[in-house]
Amino acid sequence: MNLILMGLPGAGKGTQAEQIVDTYHVPHISTGDMFRAAIKNETALGLEAKAYMDKGDLVPDEVTNGIVKERLAEADTENGFLLDGFPRTLNQAHALEEILKDLNKKLDAVVYISVNKDILMQRLTGRIICRSCGATYHKINKPPVVEGTCDRCGGHDFYQRDDDKPETVENRISVNLELTEPLLDFYKERNVLYTVNGEEDVKDVFKNVQNIIENAK
Ligand SMILES: [Zn+2]
Repeated sequence: MNLILMGLPGAGKGTQAEQIVDTYHVPHISTGDMFRAAIKNETALGLEAKAYMDKGDLVPDEVTNGIVKERLAEADTENGFLLDGFPRTLNQAHALEEILKDLNKKLDAVVYISVNKDILMQRLTGRIICRSCGATYHKINKPPVVEGTCDRCGGHDFYQRDDDKPETVENRISVNLELTEPLLDFYKERNVLYTVNGEEDVKDVFKNVQNIIENAK
């Protein structure tokens, strides 16, 4: 089962990835992990990537694609893989097509976890932190028992991390959306795109993901 998992930040991709890996025993191949492994093992491409990263430069596509190819050639992907965070661009999607062809593999499904932007905003901007004791809450998912009062220390002063502020989150979502849309079109044209509603319960989302995987097998 060769899968790509896609979703905007806050869509719940991490949780679904974990459950897919637990259920189908395929390796979870995320871009971050792949880079870390290539650098740790000091492969030629890993060292090349590291040189760019050390300078604070973006790793060029041909290096990233090479690392992906090395990873997908490993024995543990024989019965499938779950690719997460790659491809990020159309160029990378084209490159992946070539890589899979070279490795004699076929992409079975691209699962896109779809969540409305307003809900993503609610999920991602909801975190508040107590200034006096550092206890973390979420305005919707885990509010303090008494509104405006910290459960742990009784403090009333909460703050948000810069990363969680609406303008930052909105920007992050827009940037990701702009990258994601052409990829969705690309995979729709190839008849491998499946969309699940990520606004449902985590369990129900996974049931739908499982249906897709079973049918695409
Ligand atoms: Zn507190």
